[in-house]
Amino acid sequence: MKNYLSKSNVHTHTTFSDGKNSAEDMVQRALSLGFHTLGFSEHAPAIYDDAAMPARREPEYRAEILRLREKYAGQIELLIGLEHDWLSPAVPKDCDFWIESVHYVRTGGWMWCVDWDRQRLEDARDELCGGDIYALCQDYFRTVSESIQKTGADILGHIELIMKFNEARDLFDDTDARYLGPALECATLAAESGRLIEINSGAVAKGYRTAPYPGEAMLRRACEAGGRVILTSDCHDMAFLDCHFAESAALAKACGFRTAWEYRGNQLIEYPL
Ligand SMILES: [Zn+2]
Ligand SMILES: [Zn+2]
Repeated sequence: MKNYLSKSNVHTHTTFSDGKNSAEDMVQRALSLGFHTLGFSEHAPAIYDDAAMPARREPEYRAEILRLREKYAGQIELLIGLEHDWLSPAVPKDCDFWIESVHYVRTGGWMWCVDWDRQRLEDARDELCGGDIYALCQDYFRTVSESIQKTGADILGHIELIMKFNEARDLFDDTDARYLGPALECATLAAESGRLIEINSGAVAKGYRTAPYPGEAMLRRACEAGGRVILTSDCHDMAFLDCHFAESAALAKACGFRTAWEYRGNQLIEYPL
């Protein structure tokens, strides 16, 4: 029998934040893929983040998803969510689900985006950490660890985002103990938190990476520690709504997971990989 492949994605962005497509276009795309559930997770308003949805648009965002929920009732379940940046003080409320993500490292009074481009990551290394990339990675995982321990979110977003621009492993060696130690600690914390750990293929869709994150080492540790995973594509372009799902499922399986989780409407369902 063919393995079940998730027909649900709750990490998506539309033109309400930095996505390419309207919410309705995303619904149409999800229907064409046979999805039963689509969750919207715009970047929650954060004044320091250009990619975030402006606060004044949040009511419009919610109204639009409610409109689409009515219009497509019986065809697909639509969920209202947000992707919150850990350093933003405004915690999401009244959502079907929400995602906690670390996009910024906080070091010595500075906040630096590690999600923007490679140059900005190199600048963070040089400006904040005296050229020591492992010090930057440790700051990153310190922030992730803090977010995992304190968040009230349903899903932990891309907990190894710092690998985004390191596909060639020429910025740092992710098997080096200075990196791996804090990375594995975060994987353990994520598993023990009971929250869903996202296997995120967004950087594959954008052409930065050939594999999702977190990678094998973190996933293996998360599995050993009893973690639960959910597949998403952090979709900013509807062409990639189910990007890499089969490969992400295979990766989870290779790292020891026997099951994964998905939203079916508001319900979280466990399915065999
Ligand atoms: Zn994100
Ligand atoms: Zn996202």
